[in-house]
Amino acid sequence: MEILYRSTRGGETGIPASQAILNGLASDSGLYVPETFPHLDVPFTELTGKPYTEIAYEVMSRFLTDFTEEELRNCINNAYDEKFDTPEIAPMRRTGDNTYFLELFHGATIAFKDMALSILPHLLTTAAKKNRVTDEIVILTATSGDTGKAALAGFADVPGTRIVVFYPKYGVSPVQEKQMVTQKGKNTCVVGITGNFDDAQTAVKKMFADHDMAKKLSDAGFRFSSANSINIGRLVPQIAYYVWSYVKLLETGAVSDGEKINIVVPTGNFGNILAAYYAKQIGLPVHKLICASNENKVLFDFFRTGKYDRRRDFILTSSPSMDILISSNLERLIYTILGNDAEACACKMKSLREEGYYEITEEQKQKLDDFCGYFCDMKETKEAIASLYNKENYVIDTHTAVAADVYDKYRAETGDGRPTVIASTASPFKFTRSVIEALGSVRELPPNTADMDDFALADLLSEISGVAVPRAVEEIRTAPVLHNKVVDAEDMPQAVYDFLGIQK
Ligand SMILES: *Cc1c(COP(=O)(O)O)cnc(C)c1O
Repeated sequence: MEILYRSTRGGETGIPASQAILNGLASDSGLYVPETFPHLDVPFTELTGKPYTEIAYEVMSRFLTDFTEEELRNCINNAYDEKFDTPEIAPMRRTGDNTYFLELFHGATIAFKDMALSILPHLLTTAAKKNRVTDEIVILTATSGDTGKAALAGFADVPGTRIVVFYPKYGVSPVQEKQMVTQKGKNTCVVGITGNFDDAQTAVKKMFADHDMAKKLSDAGFRFSSANSINIGRLVPQIAYYVWSYVKLLETGAVSDGEKINIVVPTGNFGNILAAYYAKQIGLPVHKLICASNENKVLFDFFRTGKYDRRRDFILTSSPSMDILISSNLERLIYTILGNDAEACACKMKSLREEGYYEITEEQKQKLDDFCGYFCDMKETKEAIASLYNKENYVIDTHTAVAADVYDKYRAETGDGRPTVIASTASPFKFTRSVIEALGSVRELPPNTADMDDFALADLLSEISGVAVPRAVEEIRTAPVLHNKVVDAEDMPQAVYDFLGIQK
């Protein structure tokens, strides 16, 4: 069955997957969604014992139907290889009764974004070839820290691509900055800007919309593209690991074939949990999708009240990758629950843009029954890390801790104890300072942890957890700085021209 894509705002229909991936965002600023959902027509029992790459192929081939088997297998094999520190790619860790942490952080930058960003460059270059695009693809990204490095790692040395990452020079953590400025690869460019993340983001959006700039690039044989999380090429690879997790549960006898599970996802931009919802659409037996928020609890409020309202203060939390007030990927869910009515969807998004909120009717809200939402504050986040370490000797990061706490709340409220998968989105070594601080409540720490740098803290965490310091951290400890350019936001286009060797 061929799967075509259309914009959530109605401006485009009948778009093949490869074009949707190339375009990133639809021309009417809507998001690409499948016009119909495929079915995973292989029995789960037939998938047991298969490696990650095989399951990824089964799932992704149902969505990316204009890729040949050879093309898609090449993409998958180039993505899920030794860049991951375990051949399982996404191992599961059982804790307590019936709770399983799906570790999505074994890739190059030790956060779950590697699961999609390690394959997106290959999907993009394959899509370009299929559509006879001969221009070199230039990825432009503004980052508040994590996405930039994951995109750099994914695109470094991929033929036919270049990548330029802008980050706020004084707005990322020392480890995050070090990760980016030590990036190898001739096709990579990392630039600090004197402004904040919003300034960088705004300037990048402006460059994407600048026709004059597009023309200059095109004359020189380049075209812009985006590695942003709204690209369908990032969403589809994420569906695969939920199917994988179910197969793992089947293998160990934790579920019987067809038995329903719950999935808990620490959520920011709503990409990861939407992938779980799409997994359910293609036949994964899921009871509840539990959306875990931090104190920026727009989604919690939405699931309770049916009103999405971003008019509130932005709170900086210990789970920074979830500090988001506009969850872009929610638009795809809204489109579905409005009965695939693109006009109505466009209307809601306009209201969000112009008024800062939108509301759905009681009847539409009923269609959100697959989901439920809870939230967790910073104190509870710390307690969740400490308590799991105490009980299981297992250390989780702050984002995963939000999910763990939320799951406890769900279970206490509903009494539902069925097998549950918790998406573990980052290694504790990525947020070492907060994690060590949390552990301080249940065990003794050296007196001077506040003065230790992030590498010393990583060594300490390794000692406490019995887990080796990940390669991603080891690598940057002594790596030379390769990028040291800093510009004002208004000079960002010039930085791009310089990198591409284009005379203005
Ligand atoms: C990006 C990120 C999230 C949020 O994922 P979304 O798909 O944006 O909801 C959660 N945890 C970590 C560690 C992340 O990097």
